[in-house]
Amino acid sequence: MKANIYPTLFVVILMSISLNGSLYAANYQPASSIDPLPPGGRIENLYPSQIDDPYILQRLTGASFWVSVQGYNALFYVGDEGVLVVDPLGHGAGEGLLAAIREVTDLPITGLVYSHYHLDHIEDAAVFASVTLAQEAPLKIYASSTTADHIRTYGDRVQQVTEVIAEPFGSFTFENTRVEMHTPAHGHSDDNSMIYLPKEGILHYVDMINPDQMPYLNFAGVQDFNAYQRNLHEALALDWQFLNAGHGNIGTKEDIYFVLNYIAELRSAINTALNDISSGPFHDPQYNHVRAYEQYSHAVIEKIKPMFVEKYGDYYAFEDGFSSHVKTVLGNIELYG
Ligand SMILES: [Zn+2]
Repeated sequence: MKANIYPTLFVVILMSISLNGSLYAANYQPASSIDPLPPGGRIENLYPSQIDDPYILQRLTGASFWVSVQGYNALFYVGDEGVLVVDPLGHGAGEGLLAAIREVTDLPITGLVYSHYHLDHIEDAAVFASVTLAQEAPLKIYASSTTADHIRTYGDRVQQVTEVIAEPFGSFTFENTRVEMHTPAHGHSDDNSMIYLPKEGILHYVDMINPDQMPYLNFAGVQDFNAYQRNLHEALALDWQFLNAGHGNIGTKEDIYFVLNYIAELRSAINTALNDISSGPFHDPQYNHVRAYEQYSHAVIEKIKPMFVEKYGDYYAFEDGFSSHVKTVLGNIELYG
């Protein structure tokens, strides 16, 4: 799918770029567990806080909260009788998430959702299983059937799903709140689900983009780059105001448009560069074919980098991720045109 269909909005985005390396002249403010975030609001000084603080907690709406621990972001929803946690996180970050929840409520944790089977987002399910063991209402764990299959395949390293949600579209009700889950065709992974709380205006869709940052290496290790771009359009089609992307700041639809336009610009620049650069001359007897491809892709990166430095060079992690982004798009052009 061509992604360069939002030129007007992109101009608006470019006009709103601030000079301090942030992507937008957004409404930055200190995190608050009490005041709901206005739509478009973002947490100020997020990255240093992620290093220094055990967790960063922000109320999004009356009942929903965003939590960032060690650079990983989760959501929780406080009902009348219990708490629903969306992604328990991993690598020990689940403890920080639990502490953040306990800052707000003593209600039992009665629901846990897995977005997808990647341990860095769900490994600490054990933390929640253990604290809910003795409570009256058992912990229900929601995820797609593919995620449930992966838990079995990879040796039951996390608590098994108790409520399997239909694919590609399914839903469940947590107390009086409807939670929709969409597990689209294979983009980031084959089970990465959008978890959508329509009443709250919140979409939880992780490892696709990093709001307020350039994309992670290889677009977060994307497994199917064509589906990944379709998935982003599918996320845009839903009606929401707040995005929890699992990393980066609290997001909006502008963050998704930003990435789609960045990809469109990479595609266009690489295609132009390939008028002057072909892989043929790099197949020199002094190289093996792997070295030859590395030299070829490096030549493409060097050719187009200056124009991207001009536009994106001040953004968070541009320098460290750019080469991987070019390699992803170049590979995609070579395989799919
Ligand atoms: Zn992942």
